[in-house]
Amino acid sequence: MANYTRQMPSDVLIHNELKCYSGYTLFAPSFQNRMAWLIDMRGNVVHFWEMEHPPGLNCKLLPNGNLMWLGRGPHIMQGLNASADELIEVDWDGKEVWRYDDPYLHHDFHVLDNGHILILRHVKLPVQIQKKLRGGVPGTELNGHTYGVQIREINRAGQSRWEWNNWEHFDPEQHVECPFCDREVWGYTNSIDTFANGDPVLSVRRMNSVMRICKKTGAITWVWGPEQLLGHQHDVSVTEQGTLTIFDNGLHRRIHTPGVDHNDTSCFHASRLLEVDPDTGTILWEYIDPMHLIISNFCGSVQKLPNGNYLACDSAAGTFYEITPEKEVVWKYVSPFLLRIPEKFGWSITRLMFQAHRYGPDFEGLAGRDLSPENYEWVIQKRGKEDDHQEELVRRRLEMAGY
Ligand SMILES: [Zn+2]
Repeated sequence: MANYTRQMPSDVLIHNELKCYSGYTLFAPSFQNRMAWLIDMRGNVVHFWEMEHPPGLNCKLLPNGNLMWLGRGPHIMQGLNASADELIEVDWDGKEVWRYDDPYLHHDFHVLDNGHILILRHVKLPVQIQKKLRGGVPGTELNGHTYGVQIREINRAGQSRWEWNNWEHFDPEQHVECPFCDREVWGYTNSIDTFANGDPVLSVRRMNSVMRICKKTGAITWVWGPEQLLGHQHDVSVTEQGTLTIFDNGLHRRIHTPGVDHNDTSCFHASRLLEVDPDTGTILWEYIDPMHLIISNFCGSVQKLPNGNYLACDSAAGTFYEITPEKEVVWKYVSPFLLRIPEKFGWSITRLMFQAHRYGPDFEGLAGRDLSPENYEWVIQKRGKEDDHQEELVRRRLEMAGY
């Protein structure tokens, strides 16, 4: 009988030390997992946080070394993707130092320099707007309702300091959801970041659009993506240089867009990693794995590193790649943290995770921390024993069944 738990090699498979931006990588496997792992370049666990609830979905380190975690507790909006109901800050030792409870949270958050936080919320649309909507699969509303997306800026007292509602700026004629996706959300949004002047930038997945919002007026001042054949992208992030990085999943990618002559068809078969100049709309860097190994229909992230490399998270495969501007893969890590999907789906396993974040050795939140891998060698050993145990259980059951 073939291994059922370990179907491919895990841990660090490629590591070109000279060309990597060495540091520590943070990630949180999805589903019922409740852990955030911090690993070094050799795949050693150097720290972890165990939370009360699974992620919903992002988590990031703050400059003080604390972890900000979006959690999927018992009060989430059932039926809406990537719902969360708690935003929690815990210190290095996992002690909760701040929290914000809200059943309408989802996907992502962005901490501003002044400590305020931009959050994404689902809000039920006014009925007269819902009636005008086009696109999406009819009948896939949530109990008959469609939700809009609100950005809210909160201070540390949990008070709202600024709000932006997408339905006040969208036009039902112009802003049309993908015909293959559900209708439970209009303007389904999966990431938020800000430009240097404070303008938010959103990844509006099912409209294949990156949108810049003017913080002062609320106007949508820039839209990029439909003409560039984005396919339900994730993680639109502002780099140190003011450019944008995008994980372009490729799901439901339009092959024919009026007015677009797209000769290069390689992106039709895989996900793309992109860096884009928001001033000109030019694609500055594009990576499609030559073997089409990076394909994730959901989630995904790409981060531009200080040395110019890019760290990508192929979420579906639970695999990270560090890639140079010349498109050489210099680090590849496959998560060993397997998540078992319920047996009725055929004992399948996944390494699914939302994003990966790299922090350099000079990151102030890691200064003075004990990052010795010896502290956590037992984590991987324990993991291996659990996998052995699961395989033994399956082997015994198959034997009993006469296999
Ligand atoms: Zn779609």
